[in-house]
Amino acid sequence: MAAIKDFALHRPTWCPGCGDFAILKAMQTALVNLGLEPHDVVLVGGIGCSGKITDYFRCYGFHGVHGRILPLAMGVKLANRDLTVIGAGGDGDGYSIGGNHFLHAIRRNVDIAYIVFDNHVYGLTKGQSSPTAASGYRAKSAAYGVAEQPMRPIGTALAMGATFIAQGFSGNVKQLTRLIEAAVKHRGFSLLNVFTPCVTYNSVNTYEFYRENIVNLDEDPDFDATDRGLAIEKAMDFSKVYTGLIYREEKPSYDELLPNYPSVPLTSLDISKERSDWDSVFLEEFA
Ligand code: SF4
Repeated sequence: MAAIKDFALHRPTWCPGCGDFAILKAMQTALVNLGLEPHDVVLVGGIGCSGKITDYFRCYGFHGVHGRILPLAMGVKLANRDLTVIGAGGDGDGYSIGGNHFLHAIRRNVDIAYIVFDNHVYGLTKGQSSPTAASGYRAKSAAYGVAEQPMRPIGTALAMGATFIAQGFSGNVKQLTRLIEAAVKHRGFSLLNVFTPCVTYNSVNTYEFYRENIVNLDEDPDFDATDRGLAIEKAMDFSKVYTGLIYREEKPSYDELLPNYPSVPLTSLDISKERSDWDSVFLEEFA
C-alpha cells in the first residue's frame, strides 16, 4: 500500500507560507487514505503557481495550457475509465480562461474531481486580480480597485446542475483531506474550491481573514448538503465564507448515459482493424 512519500516528487518552489503546500499534502494524504497507488492516478494541472503541482506529485501527470484542465481531464477519463482523474489549478485558470470549460464540464458530469486553488490573484504573473477577487480589491491590474463583481463558483456550479460541490480552506488540512476523499469517491463531476492564501501578493485574503470569516457547514447540525434550497441559500449569502460539503446528489455520469460506451477502458480495445480502414480512406482521399 502506498504511503504519502510515494506520491511526492520534486520539492515545491512555492513561496514559504503559501497555502498551496497544505493542499498538496491533503491531496497526497487523501489518495493514500483511499488506498490508491500512484499508477492509479492522473493529475492534470494548468498554468499558474498551483499548476506546477504536477511537478511535485508522483503519479501520471499532464501540465496543460492555460484554462484547459477540464477538457484534458475529461478526455483522459473517457479514454481510460479505470483511472482516477483529478484536475488541479488556480481560480484564474479555471474561472476566467477556462470558464467556458467549467460550465460544460459540470453539465457533462464526467467522473473527475476538480480542485481549484482559489487565492483571488494571478500569483505566478505577480499578483493581478483574478475573477474571484472582491469588488474594490486593489491589485497591480486594478490600482483603483476591481470594478467588476466577483465570480461566484459555488452559485455558478449549482445553477449548472453540479452533483458535488464543496469548499475548503488550506488552513484546515483535516477537513480538506476529507473533502478531497469525498470528491474523488463521488461518481460524476466534483468541484472542490479551496481558499488558499497567496502570502506574497494578497494582503487581504490572509489566513487570519479566513479564520475570522469562515463558517464551517460540516459542523452545522441544521445544514443538509442534499437540500438544494439550503445550498442555494448559502451560495447567495455573500456576507460569509462557507466551507464544507455544500451540495451532493446522485445522477448518472456522462459515460453511463452514452449508449454502447464500453465497460472496459477504450485504451484496452483492439483498434487495429479500424485504424487500417482509416488508412485506406486516407490513401484514397489523397491518391
Ligand atoms: Fe503561493 Fe502566491 Fe507565492 Fe504563488 S506567488 S507561490 S500563490 S504565495
